[in-house]
Amino acid sequence: MSGHPTRIGWFSAREVECNPPPPAREHPYRLVLLGPPGVGKGTQALLLSEDLRACHLSTGDLFRATRCQSAPSPAMQVAIDAMNRGELVREDLVIQMVRERSKCIQCLGGFLLDGFPRNIHQAEALSALMDELRVAPDAVVSYELPWEEIVARLSGRRTCSECRAVFHVASQPPSRSDRCDRCGASLMQRDDDRPEAIRVRLRTYESETRPLADYYSGTGKLLSVPAHGTPREICRRTLAALHALAPPATPHPTSSRAPG
Ligand code: AMP
Repeated sequence: MSGHPTRIGWFSAREVECNPPPPAREHPYRLVLLGPPGVGKGTQALLLSEDLRACHLSTGDLFRATRCQSAPSPAMQVAIDAMNRGELVREDLVIQMVRERSKCIQCLGGFLLDGFPRNIHQAEALSALMDELRVAPDAVVSYELPWEEIVARLSGRRTCSECRAVFHVASQPPSRSDRCDRCGASLMQRDDDRPEAIRVRLRTYESETRPLADYYSGTGKLLSVPAHGTPREICRRTLAALHALAPPATPHPTSSRAPG
């Protein structure tokens, strides 16, 4: 059995519950993961979700899943085109997609939010949503790495076309070339990992997303984690930093919604 929550509720939006639901935790971890594209947030989310049993909620994975649909809506097609160029997707659309998945934010299994927020406006929208739902993030984990390493990571990254597991041609090669070690499906290079899209994404990160570290350091919840070393080392570093914090807040008595 996989060690990861299913994420069905995240991919299916408002009506569908995860089956099986993630086990409710006495102290669910609710984390926001920050860091430049390619720093390894997706890989860390996978590892952390095994340990913390919290669900990996990635807005990038949502858009990529939509790209596989045979007939995306016109608005979604605009979003997919922006993503393929390495640009950010329209703000109202992203915020709406996250709001439609409020049950995942309230889930008693906790969450690891990856790729959202991407700028101050989105951070304010998330904060407003969490206030409405009466939950609070336990920490904002910010992964740090020099630029040259980021570019090397992005250009060698390969992603499973089925289960989204992430590999790297040099540092984490799959045991059979071009095949996923977890599910055997074919590996692919993301369109937005091509060199011209990488440049756009890094520029966008600098101007839009980096200021979030200052925004969150004002809340006292920012944990800066160096992202060098193997994925397991980075994960251990993250868990040590988390465990040095107070235990996560007990869910609010009114947030008793079934896990999603
Ligand atoms: P990621 O997998 O997080 O790197 O996201 C891949 C792409 O999805 C990004 O380059 C954007 O085009 C789009 N995307 C994901 N999350 C957001 C967001 N919060 N705001 C705008 N665009 C996003």
